[in-house]
Amino acid sequence: MKKITVLGSLNADTILHIPHLPQQGETMAMDDASTAPGGKGANQAVAAKRMGGDVNFIGAVGQDANGQLLLGALKADGVDTTHVAELEGVATGAAYIMLEADSHNTILILGGANRQVNESNVEAAEDTIKASDVLIAQFETPMVATLNAFKSAKEADVMTVLNPAPATKDIPAELFAVTDLVVPNETEAEIITGIPVTDDLSMESAAKRLQEMGAKNVIITVGERGSYFYMADGENGFVPALKVKAVDTTAAGDTFIGALTTKLDADMRNVEEAVRFANAAAAITVQGAGAQPSIPTLDQVNASRA
Ligand code: ATP
Repeated sequence: MKKITVLGSLNADTILHIPHLPQQGETMAMDDASTAPGGKGANQAVAAKRMGGDVNFIGAVGQDANGQLLLGALKADGVDTTHVAELEGVATGAAYIMLEADSHNTILILGGANRQVNESNVEAAEDTIKASDVLIAQFETPMVATLNAFKSAKEADVMTVLNPAPATKDIPAELFAVTDLVVPNETEAEIITGIPVTDDLSMESAAKRLQEMGAKNVIITVGERGSYFYMADGENGFVPALKVKAVDTTAAGDTFIGALTTKLDADMRNVEEAVRFANAAAAITVQGAGAQPSIPTLDQVNASRA
């Protein structure tokens, strides 16, 4: 069983079902609203766990009802929450997801406790990090914590996977230096590299630009089209997404990353097969509403591929 540690965010997701985005100043009736556990980090941890990983989480919640909801959800899935701090006087992270009838989503985030994750949380989890096969992080928790955690991981030869989301142009070379695999979506790849990712050629250009910035192995996910990989040695390829009817793409990218890390060998030679598996897992997620509720189990992914 792969030992996977996720350093990242926990958010209470409130999904606002709307016909389309309102105009400035408009008052609009919603079709429905519901709250479910989410946050990029937590979603990736749940995906890795449901795909059969042995998963630890490093993060923080507030001492409030949302915090309990999120901790409870991770525990219910069997994710080890020993290194989730419960902080006084700060709200648990929250996301407000405006889900349009055509399945597109627009998201507002309250960082809350996620923004308080720091070096001391990472230090407290150092043994867990070093005992892992893979460490995953995103940008919903402070970059300094990620940098420290990745440095610790590399001291013990642990594979480090960075999902640079939400994207920032300012990723220090120091962070790329301790990152084995970077997995942006097309928008994030464009923000980071300045290259609009529209077709095969621009995927390759963006991946090469990421490598010039210091990245080693790169996978760019391009939604309903699929996923492109460009490895440190120049091996590359495109794996098309499955043709399914999407109802809500929330957590598609998170499912992809969680699933990918349970399959990817330490030398990443099996990247194409791991991406194929991750595409299949994410294709199930987009067919269900919400973040964690729609993430499939390994059995469901295997059944969909049989
Ligand atoms: P999210 O909506 O969670 O923010 P993302 O933008 O991070 O997702 P995407 O590139 O949209 O990530 O999707 C990740 C993967 O999910 C894709 O590479 C693909 O395999 C799968 N996927 C996304 N959308 C669809 C779809 N409509 N149909 C089938 N597969 C999809």
